[in-house]
Amino acid sequence: TKPKDPEPKPVKKKPEAKPAVYVDVIRDEEIQKARLKLPILAEEQQIMEVINENPVVIIAGETGSGKTTQVPQFLYEGGYALKKQIAVTEPRRVAAIAMSKRVGEEMNLNSREVSYLIRFEGNVTEDTKIKFMTDGVLLKEVQNDFLLSQYSVVILDEAHERSVYTDILIGLLSRIVPLRKKRGDPLKLIIMSATLRIEDFTMNQRLFKTPPPVLKVDSRQFPVTVHFNKRTDEDYLSESFNKTVKIHTKLPDGGILVFLTGQQEVNSLVKKLRAKFPLKAKPIKDDTEEEEEAGPKLRKQKKVYAPKVDLDDYKPDWSSDSEEETEERPVHNAAPLWVLPLYSMLPTHKQNEVFKPPPAGCRLCVVSTNVAETSLTIPNVKYVVDCGRSKVKLYDKVTGVSSYVVTWTSKASADQRAGRAGRTGPGHCYRLYSSAVFNDTFQMFSIPEIQQKPVDDLYLQMKCMSIDKVVNFPFPTAPDLLQLKTAERRLEVLGALTKGQVTALGRAIAKFPVLPRFGKMLALSHQQDLLPYTVCLVAALSVQEVLLERPINEGDDKGERLKWAGLRRQWAGSGNSLLLGDNMVLLRAVGAAEYANTQNKLEKFCFDNGLRHKALVEIRKLRLQLTNEIKANMPEAELVVDPQLAPPTDLQAKLLRQILLSGMGDQIAKKIGEEEAEDRVKFKYGYHANNMEEPVFLHSGSVLRKTLPEFVVYQEIYETNKIYMRGVTAIEPEWLPVYVPDLCNLSEPLSDPEPRYNRANGKVYCTVTGTFGSQGWSLPNVEI
Ligand code: ADP
Ligand code: MG
Repeated sequence: TKPKDPEPKPVKKKPEAKPAVYVDVIRDEEIQKARLKLPILAEEQQIMEVINENPVVIIAGETGSGKTTQVPQFLYEGGYALKKQIAVTEPRRVAAIAMSKRVGEEMNLNSREVSYLIRFEGNVTEDTKIKFMTDGVLLKEVQNDFLLSQYSVVILDEAHERSVYTDILIGLLSRIVPLRKKRGDPLKLIIMSATLRIEDFTMNQRLFKTPPPVLKVDSRQFPVTVHFNKRTDEDYLSESFNKTVKIHTKLPDGGILVFLTGQQEVNSLVKKLRAKFPLKAKPIKDDTEEEEEAGPKLRKQKKVYAPKVDLDDYKPDWSSDSEEETEERPVHNAAPLWVLPLYSMLPTHKQNEVFKPPPAGCRLCVVSTNVAETSLTIPNVKYVVDCGRSKVKLYDKVTGVSSYVVTWTSKASADQRAGRAGRTGPGHCYRLYSSAVFNDTFQMFSIPEIQQKPVDDLYLQMKCMSIDKVVNFPFPTAPDLLQLKTAERRLEVLGALTKGQVTALGRAIAKFPVLPRFGKMLALSHQQDLLPYTVCLVAALSVQEVLLERPINEGDDKGERLKWAGLRRQWAGSGNSLLLGDNMVLLRAVGAAEYANTQNKLEKFCFDNGLRHKALVEIRKLRLQLTNEIKANMPEAELVVDPQLAPPTDLQAKLLRQILLSGMGDQIAKKIGEEEAEDRVKFKYGYHANNMEEPVFLHSGSVLRKTLPEFVVYQEIYETNKIYMRGVTAIEPEWLPVYVPDLCNLSEPLSDPEPRYNRANGKVYCTVTGTFGSQGWSLPNVEI
């Protein structure tokens, strides 16, 4: 892109009504026309007056009314970017990027001036005037400069989404704003939200003593007719396909927006729809080879009427699930359908396609996750197809590892989705579920994220910001007391907090974008080239179901299963490597899979060896992400991602076991003694987990099942016919006082809670005896 021309800009007459400070913006005529259609523009003057006179303002308006794109421009024109920057936070990365681009375009400013910053990526410069960023990024900035002194205004956008970070930022800014006023350097706070549950912000006395003014922005919303399905079909993917086909073949012009729950579903439906309604009707042929040959020609033809489109979009996507191969045949009589995917992981240039008009003669159809619910507005949508579900992140209470489950959305979300059909004219919303399900099963609102997950990382971050009494923090919706107490205790055990104060270790842990227990493992991995292994382990432990119970291609044949178990044991190695147990298998599996990947054989390798392909792909992304983060925070750590990680040496394996203990010291189990096992048969081969009554067991899939070490740490406990441990590593009891001193009753407290290694022989020393945890296991006396 070429820089903006340095020629003097044409003089624009200042409108009479504007305040004294007024910064000129020269907009293209077409943009200005589109802006004038937005009702928020008529309210510019009132909005600016209220903002000028109040430190905190809430702006509420339906999605698409122009809050995100216009309010930052109002502020810029009102002089708020003359000395300091205007900050705008978004809970989603997609929105931060898309909106900075859009606002820059509307204002004729380049990306040096209207910029974005998300984790690992951004284009902020010293000339930046308006800075779009994710809420997580601003929260990190608060840690470095509590007063946020580089900004004149902070806009917290999409506050109704109730993301944890936005919630915390509201609480923090309610304190920062008065502090800045005291300094004679006032900061404006603008909270922008869809018209949902604004009372959480206004009626919360702890947050704002006097409720801030609420500006309601009108929007031109046309009526949307809602159609429920008579029955609720579980297979909402097929249902959404059928409904879209019906709309396209039977109903008048107008864009279609389909809501599904995740990227894979989106890709799969996009593929089916493109096959059904090709851009240029293909002759029906049974011979697939011939169809493939026709491919390049077909693409060329497309170029004629869609020159700007990324043709990659229309290549078959072989990477998605093969069982979803479509049998659909193209129909001849329907107009072409311009099908586009939309989800947060989609590259930006492809996301932007949805804002452009479809090629002439085509109907637009966007298949999206809930990013199109409130963050992004797609023009000219007349029909909405709503599967009624969304994917939510659930956190495993035992491990803190997250997983995704598909659940019903809330009534509020369903109504937001329906509203997308009424932006440019009357519309229709087809809900792929019955009105009974909607009325009886749907919650009114989604639960704020902060009440759904362990708050360990948040608690630590707040402590790092010197918020002493987290319990008294003005949360818009507070997490419950038990959540906070559990978090505090776990952080103490990790050594991140002592007596309510953050330790040096705690500060190091807080720098990593993973759960504190994993952060600690990374923080302790500086020696013996351990970091690449720990990064790999933390990545693998953060992904669900890497190892399948048995190879996918085998039947339920006992011989095959034994062979499989044998294979895993081979992977576990011997000596100290073996004691690293299931985590050693993980390490080797990732290394081997990466090697297979360099040969383009990853999928087959996974298939043959009982690894979940998608999990391996995910692990690679996480490894890269963690490595980049470590590089950014600790330039002295010379870390490169070598995909093919050679197995650790015996010394490294032993240190890794200690590292695992340091992160999971609250998840220790001890083998049940011979005597006790003889008394109670069901205890045979069992373990006592700290804090648990029932015995727990090693699963037949565990490589340590034959060895049965005395002491182990586990990643997770789960229940089927018995209670089993997953992800098991053997540890030595004499390590306990060093790594989990907080759970030990020591005859003499350790003065130095940090591990003390002898680098030469890899030994860890401690000098005390005592007992461990609630079980009172005795700890051996270790010689120096
Ligand atoms: P709100 O924040 O209130 O939901 P926005 O400011 O995001 O509203 O959108 C205002 C209008 O700008 C909408 O009509 C939308 O279609 C349009 N718009 C937003 N982004 C783009 C874009 N990248 N290209 C074209 N139009 C856009
Ligand atoms: Mg918005």
